[in-house]
Amino acid sequence: MRTGYPQPGGSKTPGERTLLERIRSRAVRSRISGLKVGIGDDCALLAPARGQQIAITTDLSIAGRHFHLEWHRPEVVGHRTLARGLSDLAAMGAKPLAAFVSLGLPAELTSSVGSEKSWIERFFDGFLALADRHRTALAGGDLAQSPLAMADVVLVGTVPPQRALLRSGARAGDLLYVTGRLGGASAGLAALGRLAGNSTGRRLKQDPRDPLATHLYPQPRIAQGLWLQRRGIATAAIDLSDGLSTDLTHLCEESRTGAEIDAERLPIHPAASLAEALHGGEDYELLFTVPPGVLPPRSLAGVPLTRIGRIVRRRAGHPLVALLTGDRIDALGAQGWEHFV
Ligand SMILES: [Mg+2]
Repeated sequence: MRTGYPQPGGSKTPGERTLLERIRSRAVRSRISGLKVGIGDDCALLAPARGQQIAITTDLSIAGRHFHLEWHRPEVVGHRTLARGLSDLAAMGAKPLAAFVSLGLPAELTSSVGSEKSWIERFFDGFLALADRHRTALAGGDLAQSPLAMADVVLVGTVPPQRALLRSGARAGDLLYVTGRLGGASAGLAALGRLAGNSTGRRLKQDPRDPLATHLYPQPRIAQGLWLQRRGIATAAIDLSDGLSTDLTHLCEESRTGAEIDAERLPIHPAASLAEALHGGEDYELLFTVPPGVLPPRSLAGVPLTRIGRIVRRRAGHPLVALLTGDRIDALGAQGWEHFV
């Protein structure tokens, strides 16, 4: 990957070079230890603390699939692009170090009209605000003209050896916990669809009770993932990007276990339905397991932790993931459920 947004003497137009120089100057404003060389050379140079393992995740967002130019303000697209990558680091218990983002954009999104900021500058307003909050350096990337808007982000983090939270460590008897509330992002997306055409995103950033804010500005659970990693109490973890039913199925498959969820324990977002809490994606909360007898705190860094069920042995003729509601058992397949007995 190229890391020098400004390519001296390269194929960029003078306007693009000016734009890239502005992004670079904003990126280097916040100095991060561990980043020795950032944007401007052929490669970034990272120097993680001695003995740390490197965690890397990559995520591609495409207009029309992962965001909608007519619904999502550029700051929102920038925030969400980085949040998706940071959430994967959180799920591993990794500490963010550096981000690389490559953009493919139609020409009209890189040029400003009059004194107004261009789409790409506002994208970086959202991206860099979240990066600053999590002390993540923007260390490189690339920019190209493209008929379709897309953003590809790579996140680099660090985690001590043998400490990363994996999907594969859950054992029968472990208890299932989740951070925050579920279904808010899905309810927010539905509300956004109803509001399409209106300007969105204003006055929403700080209010997690608003499902629109939950959808537009998801908060990756870095502090909670780091706490779990440092305490060493979680046997497995995953972030909820695709929805509880799908991501819990992934965790069970990797751990070779089954799971039961107690419907009445689910921390459903006040604006969401049970179906949105079970199957709605993009909440970016953490789902993790702890051995029986371990009692996590009620909240971590202001985010509630809720016990929602348990890990069980796989049994023939029994659903991999079951939803218990009183005496009733439903098989909870990824993205759907069916009455079981
Ligand atoms: Mg993930």
